[in-house]
Amino acid sequence: MSTNINLDHSKHSSTFNITNRVALITGASSGIGKGIAKLLAREGAIVIIADIDEAQGKEVASKIAAKEGIADFIKLDVADEASWINTYESIADRYQSLNILVNNAGIAFGGSVTEVSLEDWRRLMAVNLDGVFLGTKYAIPLMQKSGGGSIVNVSSASGIVGSPTAAAYCASKGGVRLFTKAVALECAYAKNNIRVNSVHPGPVATPMFERGPTWGDFVKQMGGIEEAWKKIAESTPLNRLAEPEEIANAVLFLASDLSSYITGSEIIIDGGFTAQ
Ligand code: NAD
Repeated sequence: MSTNINLDHSKHSSTFNITNRVALITGASSGIGKGIAKLLAREGAIVIIADIDEAQGKEVASKIAAKEGIADFIKLDVADEASWINTYESIADRYQSLNILVNNAGIAFGGSVTEVSLEDWRRLMAVNLDGVFLGTKYAIPLMQKSGGGSIVNVSSASGIVGSPTAAAYCASKGGVRLFTKAVALECAYAKNNIRVNSVHPGPVATPMFERGPTWGDFVKQMGGIEEAWKKIAESTPLNRLAEPEEIANAVLFLASDLSSYITGSEIIIDGGFTAQ
């Protein structure tokens, strides 16, 4: 964490009232997380981009600092407990508080359950599910000291309904959905002023697809990249992919006090996919 920051951001007036709130967003070097980081910074939050991809993350942070608002980068592997402990120690030292946590980092791959290796299954669970557990576990004490907060977990439409080609991914995202509800109840009964909700995006055009080991085969099967994206878009009633900003809008709402009576809940942003 190296950027010098000016905590007096009081000139910014925001409908969402998240000015000067400290917001940690995992996996914000790319895709949806980057969109969330930009929007929260534009709304006045002090944004901390946490990712394993240091080069991209630093670039995103400096672009946000030049345009949208206040941003910092910290290197974090969400699957690694020690990395989380270091992250929160740095945040406590530097900002003394944590108000918003967006557990967004995730990986995806498809493939038949009979072909997925135990190693790949465990890696997926380590990032998508252990990452959300660890981030939440260590955020709560710091949020409590900060007077409360909002945790938003990025699940998926594939955490609501099953997919015949992505059993492991569905299991991880379904886990995130119910983990969210259980922790929301725990926090509500603890009266610690921490709300916990999940968002469930449908397909968003991000590098996540291309990073998956089965993307190449899918593209081949569809007859080209454009056809592959078209096929994915066609799976949604709105017949298009989402922009990262459209997911970020829901996260902003859940992060802000406009959603003050919403906890243990979920917002589905999927172009109608799960309504079918
Ligand atoms: P992306 O690949 O563009 O971005 C994911 C980011 O997470 C990357 O910056 C990557 O470096 C980071 N990351 C991966 N492993 C990490 C780790 N161990 N520790 C820290 N950071 C790590 O993907 P995206 O599409 O922006 O996905 C963001 C989230 O949205 C994921 O949880 C994904 O499952 C979910 N999601 C995506 C879609 C979609 O269609 N793109 C749909 C539904 C849900």
